[in-house]
Amino acid sequence: MAKTILLGGTHRPLKGYVSKMILFKLKCDGDHEFEGWFRDGATFDRQSARGQVSCPQCGSSTVDKAPMAPRPLRTLDTSSVEPTPPRVEEVRRALQVLRRHVETNCENVGSQFAAEARAIHNGTSKTRGIYGDSTPEESRALAEDGIDFQTIPWVPPSDA
Ligand SMILES: [Zn+2]
Repeated sequence: MAKTILLGGTHRPLKGYVSKMILFKLKCDGDHEFEGWFRDGATFDRQSARGQVSCPQCGSSTVDKAPMAPRPLRTLDTSSVEPTPPRVEEVRRALQVLRRHVETNCENVGSQFAAEARAIHNGTSKTRGIYGDSTPEESRALAEDGIDFQTIPWVPPSDA
């Protein structure tokens, strides 16, 4: 079971952003070595071809990757221990906290979610956080209209 949520007012969307960057050793035509973060080798080649990569020491944009294997970001971690994935129980507890937060701060509009979300988006209803149920069709229509909402698993509340 899942609930659809529109966070209004001062709430920020619950979006996570994971960036994957690779560190490249670079070298200009003046033999200066420096480092740069790029999504991948192709991104470096593209930016370099446009003259967007320049040496911090002499400003030359004739820059090449130094002969060295690119280092993926995660090898820069100081700890050699891989982070353990969160356990099911931790995820469930986090979702319970999220559910309580939503129930406290958002208005339950039930099956009227899609209509109310659109009304808020159009400015014909008061800006606020709401939650409720929406069909896959309604969710798709909201997304197509650029309305920013989230769908979260709706776990049973904690016993505490
Ligand atoms: Zn240089």
